[in-house]
Amino acid sequence: MKIQELSQEIRAKALKRIKEKTPQELSATWSHEDLTYSGEGSTIFMILPTTGCAWALAESGGCTMCSYISESSLEPVSSSTLIEIFNDLLGRYDLNEPTAIKMFTSGSFLNQGEFPLEARIEILNTLNGLENVTEVIVESRPEYVTKEEVLNCCSLIPEKIFEISMGLETSDDYTREFKVNKGFNKQDFEKAVDVIKGLKSEYNVKSKAYILIKPILTSEKDAIEEAVQTASYAEEKGVDRVSFCPSTIHKGTVMEELWRKGSYQPPRVWSVLEVLNRVRQSVKIPSIMDTSGFGSRRGPYNCKNCNDKLKKIIMKSNLNQSTIKDFKCDCKVEWETETKFGDINRSPSRIQYPKN
Ligand code: SF4
Ligand SMILES: [Zn+2]
Repeated sequence: MKIQELSQEIRAKALKRIKEKTPQELSATWSHEDLTYSGEGSTIFMILPTTGCAWALAESGGCTMCSYISESSLEPVSSSTLIEIFNDLLGRYDLNEPTAIKMFTSGSFLNQGEFPLEARIEILNTLNGLENVTEVIVESRPEYVTKEEVLNCCSLIPEKIFEISMGLETSDDYTREFKVNKGFNKQDFEKAVDVIKGLKSEYNVKSKAYILIKPILTSEKDAIEEAVQTASYAEEKGVDRVSFCPSTIHKGTVMEELWRKGSYQPPRVWSVLEVLNRVRQSVKIPSIMDTSGFGSRRGPYNCKNCNDKLKKIIMKSNLNQSTIKDFKCDCKVEWETETKFGDINRSPSRIQYPKN
């Protein structure tokens, strides 16, 4: 069975189990200090619900590790509803200091089929009028990062930093196609980065690459190497910063299916630490390490003595971009053995999934 057929089959089952929620129930917001372009700074995060990621809804079945489609409305969300939700979420904050606004749409903000133009214009106009909003960050697949779309956004917030985050996941086209089922190649990504680079003389526009640590069918050792190499590749292509996403097991994904069968484990926190240390030494652009799911049954795991401590240390290091060299725990030996000798979970051939 091909990866897209498998993704589709698993996705179809997951979509049947979705409990209907209103766009308001699907929205969320929180805030904390995060790394901004001027250092540690106040950041507001918002989830704005849309019909869902076009790639996940297409024949492709979506990416093998992502279940955001289950958190989407699956029905078009009107501009007026999106604007109302945005205003409600934004109204919960004082905005009395320079603030970055991160808007997550569980898909592509720049795809007008997911996020209607009218809502984009109204929301960016509002943000443009707020002096303390210094940065606006959105996410998009590279195929929607066209000159026309980026120019449209930049012209609405000409004085703000505008960052477009793209899920590159890996610099290896084979991994991205057959293990992540991402549906684009390096050329597509580079084209999008070039669009952003081409507008830098006129606007403060930036690119960010998300890098997945440990796709399915990848050994611990290979996962570390691939993540480190991907950060270097992103820097070389002119990406402004990278954000690592160590795998967590989302429900209703190919990754979950393999995990349930004992064929996949999220990365160890030690591996995450190794990636962080190597990248912060070898790559000059800022790198953020996502710590969601750390220490949980479905997330990166070391041992119960060090999971939480390391999570806090990594979160702090994101703010000052430091390396973490002197952390010790007895569980490190086990990880060292596994990364030295273990070459499990690696498939040398195109993925075939036996039906049982
Ligand atoms: S990772 Fe991004 S592109 Fe892939 S299915 Fe999820 S939202 Fe869509
Ligand atoms: Zn430990």
